[in-house]
Amino acid sequence: MYPLKMCTDCIKESSFIRKVWEFDLFTACPTHKRLLIDKCPGCGKGLSWLREKVVRCRCGYDLRDTNPLQVNENELRVATHLQALLIGNSQLMCSTTKDHSPFWNLGIADFTDVLYFFARYCEGDKNDPTNTSQPVGTLLSHHNILVQATNIFDDWPDNYIGFLENIRGKVNGRGELDTGITKDFGSFRRLLYKNYRKGECRFLIETFERYLADYWDGGYLTTKCRGVGEEDLKERKWVPASIVADRLGISPDAVVPLVEREIIKGVIRPMGKRRLCLVDSESLDEAVRLFKSTLTMKEVAKRINIKAKHVIIGLVRADILKLLRGPEVDNYHHRIFLANSVDVLFAKIKALVPIDCHEKNTVNFHVAIRMLSRTDYGKVDTLLMAIFNEKIRIVGWDENCGLAGLQFSIEDLRHVLDGYRMEEHGGITLEQAAMTLGISYTKAKHLVKKGILDAQRVSVGNRNEWSVGEESIDSCRKILDIEAEHAGNVK
Ligand SMILES: [Zn+2]
Ligand SMILES: [Zn+2]
Repeated sequence: MYPLKMCTDCIKESSFIRKVWEFDLFTACPTHKRLLIDKCPGCGKGLSWLREKVVRCRCGYDLRDTNPLQVNENELRVATHLQALLIGNSQLMCSTTKDHSPFWNLGIADFTDVLYFFARYCEGDKNDPTNTSQPVGTLLSHHNILVQATNIFDDWPDNYIGFLENIRGKVNGRGELDTGITKDFGSFRRLLYKNYRKGECRFLIETFERYLADYWDGGYLTTKCRGVGEEDLKERKWVPASIVADRLGISPDAVVPLVEREIIKGVIRPMGKRRLCLVDSESLDEAVRLFKSTLTMKEVAKRINIKAKHVIIGLVRADILKLLRGPEVDNYHHRIFLANSVDVLFAKIKALVPIDCHEKNTVNFHVAIRMLSRTDYGKVDTLLMAIFNEKIRIVGWDENCGLAGLQFSIEDLRHVLDGYRMEEHGGITLEQAAMTLGISYTKAKHLVKKGILDAQRVSVGNRNEWSVGEESIDSCRKILDIEAEHAGNVK
C-alpha cells in the first residue's frame, strides 16, 4: 500500500479520501494548487489509515489546520496530467505544456515508467553533497525530482539534450577503460535501449541518436554504434579524422596538427591509449577549399621577395607565415602555405605604415638587417617581430617590392643600436656623452684622449664605437666644473 497522502484543502471541503492520492506520482492537488502532506504537522508522524476521523490525526491534530506549500502551474503538470489520464479526459492533458514532446502523449504506464527512469538521474543530482536545499526522501524532495524530470521534456528536444550533456561521463560505472559512447553514456544508454527499443517510448532513443549525430563530440560515430544508420552519418556534426584525411587527400596523422593549429575546427582528446580527433563538418568543407588554393615555397619567396629558403623557414617558425603542411607541421616533405598567409603578413605590415611620412634619411629592409646584424633584430623574422611589437618603426613601404620595399629611418636604427649598446656594455655613445655634458663631439673626443672621460672601443653592428660609462660622466662633469671655475677666476 502507498504511504498515505492527502490534500488538506480537499478535506476541508468534504472529508473523504481521494483515490488519486494513492498514486506515487501524485504529489500536489491541481484543484487547490498545494503540495499534498504525508506527515502530520502535529506529531510529525506519517499519516495512518487507522484513525477515527478523516480530518484528525491519531494525535488529535486537526489536519484542516495545515497550510501546505503552494505550487505553480508548472509543478502541477504531473498531477493534472495523471488525473486527466485516469479519467480519460484528453482535453485536460498537456494543457499547460507548450512545445510538448511525445512524452505527454504516452499512456499512463509508459508515462509513469519514463518519468521514473529520468527521475532517478535527477535524484542523482539531488544526492550531490553540495546540494543541501532539502532532505532526501521527503514528499517535497520527491515532488521536486518529478518536476525536474518533467522539465527534461520541455522545449523539446533542447532540454533533453541539456540533460544528456549533463549526465555525460557520469553514468559509466564500469571504469576508466571505456571509451567513446560507453564512456560518456554507459549505463544510461544500455538501459535506454533495453527499456525503450520498441513502442511509444522509442522517441527517447531516436532523439538520443539524433543528439549523437548532431552534437556529441566524445568519440567516433560509425554504423557500428548501435542505432546509428548511414543517414545519420551523412548529417553528423563531428567527422572522424580518417574521413577528413580522405577528403583532403592526406594521411589521418596529418589531421591532428591541422586541428591543433586551429586551421580546422575540431576536438582532440585522449581516448584510451590513443587520441580521438573529430572535425566539425562545416569546418571540413572550409578545409577542402583551403587545400585547393595554396602557395608553394617558390610562390611565397617571390611575393615576399626573399629567396633564401632558411629565411622563409625562420618566418614559419616565428609563426609569421602560416604553413598548411610541411616538415615543421606534419612531417610532410614539401612546405605548402595557406593561400592567404602572405596577404595576412602584408596586411599586418600595411597597418603599421604611416600614411603621411617624408623621412629623408631612410634605408631599406636589407640594409636595416645589416645595420642591426649584431643586435636581437638582425634577422628577417626578428626584425619583423620588432616591427609588429612596434619596437622599430616603418617609415614607408613599396608593397610591390615585398619585404625589400620596407623603409626605415636611419636615426631610428641608430637609436636602437645605442639602446642595444647601452644594455650590452652598460654605457652610452660618445655623442650622447657630449650632449649630456653640453660639449661638442670634438671636445668629448679630446677629453677621452686626455683620459678625463673614460671610454672604451666596442663593436656595435658593423662599426666600432666609443662606449662611455655613466660613472665616468659624473667625474668628468666635476672636472669640467672645476676647469670652468678656474677659468672664471683667471678672468
Ligand atoms: Zn485539494
Ligand atoms: Zn499527528
